[in-house]
Amino acid sequence: MLTPLIEQLSQSNTTLVAVSKTKPEAAIMKLYQQGQRIFGENRVQELAWKYEALPNDIQWHMIGHLQSNKVKQIAGFVKLIHSVESLKLLKEINKQAKKQERVIDCLLQFHIATEESKFGLSLGEAESLLANEGFKELQNIRIVGVMGMASFVEEESQVRTEFKALYHLFTVLKAKYFSDKDYFKEISMGMSGDYQIAIEEGSTIVRIGSLLFGAR
Ligand SMILES: *Cc1c(COP(=O)(O)O)cnc(C)c1O
Repeated sequence: MLTPLIEQLSQSNTTLVAVSKTKPEAAIMKLYQQGQRIFGENRVQELAWKYEALPNDIQWHMIGHLQSNKVKQIAGFVKLIHSVESLKLLKEINKQAKKQERVIDCLLQFHIATEESKFGLSLGEAESLLANEGFKELQNIRIVGVMGMASFVEEESQVRTEFKALYHLFTVLKAKYFSDKDYFKEISMGMSGDYQIAIEEGSTIVRIGSLLFGAR
């Protein structure tokens, strides 16, 4: 599965995050041996032990809901946090990154789905975060783009509309807050069931689990 998927993604310049949550080390190593180096997890504890157990040239992404009091467990190594939803969390990431003498890259997670259960910011909330004086003081984090999850539905048109909305949010923020920041360029959208639509709608990072590892 990996080889054709990677070929397709490299043609579209899309980065693949292999979502390895709940999967054992051996399954991760199988993809590692095929050249995959970016893996994503959604729980802090699992991310931390897999980081310890697996090769240290793996880039680990945190893709799930993150509580402030757990940031310190991953601050020393996490490559990208996809799921920033508040200034409070961002301040804690900054604090822990500073202790580690690092700058941690983050994405702002947006609520694009119609389903209530999904996490994420609205445009208004993101704008008040970015305009806040407290945000401007944060030297040890970098907002490199946006992330979102589409509704889990059959209708392709709804999923497409939600991805278009995230792309639009990205362009609005880029123009208003990051026009001179080359690093603000990532749109993390697309999972096993909808990554093809996401790529058509401008995704730069897809997060794919079950298609690579089998059902959870
Ligand atoms: C689990 C998960 C994925 C991957 O889901 P699949 O459908 O298995 O590809 C992507 N993003 C997030 C945030 C996840 O929690």
